[in-house]
Amino acid sequence: MKIIDSHVHLYPEPDLEKELHISQKLVERYLNRLSQKITKEKIDEAMIYVLDRNFLSMKISAPKNLIISSTIGTKKNYASDLEKAFNKGIKIIKILPYEQKIIRERYPQIIKMAKLAKKKKMALSICSTYGSKLLYDTNGVELAAHVKSKVDIPIILAHAGGPKIFEAMTLALEYENIFLDLSFSLKYWRGSSVIKDFAFALKKLNYKKCFYGSDYPYVDFNESLEYFLRFAKEYNFSKKGRYDMLYANFKKFKRKYL
Ligand SMILES: [Zn+2]
Repeated sequence: MKIIDSHVHLYPEPDLEKELHISQKLVERYLNRLSQKITKEKIDEAMIYVLDRNFLSMKISAPKNLIISSTIGTKKNYASDLEKAFNKGIKIIKILPYEQKIIRERYPQIIKMAKLAKKKKMALSICSTYGSKLLYDTNGVELAAHVKSKVDIPIILAHAGGPKIFEAMTLALEYENIFLDLSFSLKYWRGSSVIKDFAFALKKLNYKKCFYGSDYPYVDFNESLEYFLRFAKEYNFSKKGRYDMLYANFKKFKRKYL
């Protein structure tokens, strides 16, 4: 089975605080460890999110089977950070609306950043998980819709919006370059009606524009694949659809944008 995991974290434990502050030595060690781990798990490639913007100043090259995406500063430092990311060959900028406290008043800044990223032919990945302490203040799906209304830049909606899956789906139907990653949500919402909605949405999208992902270490590789395959079986996804989501869709995305 060919697999690309579109959503993996660098830090090996589910500890966001530590993940935001890692030393260069550890980054090197974790990258190599992760590269070996995904080989062992028979995953062809993985896109890894580095959430510590200090990473941009580190001299590190990524192992071949890892595609690196990084966060950047979203305040005044966005332009210099973006430049650094560009020079490192990073093509996808990760935005974390909750952790970076991107409330509506800050949307204009994100638009400026998106315009610059577009100039450099980069893409965005916006965390679109559902539920945080800023439940009604930050919203990844809304931010993506806002950015798309002003800047034509490719966007991945990480976690596909969770219960906002229909909103994510309609954006993906509306815009040719909006994509959904299925990481985390299939496990987290298992047993709820959200899973049924995911199945509806993926079929509506004809299994295109959706990427399989785990969100390792928040969901382990094996576990994630099990959830995905069980879900695909329960809702009678076609073999081709399954293959597209596990592998071909991201491959196509990579060829076009990365
Ligand atoms: Zn994640």
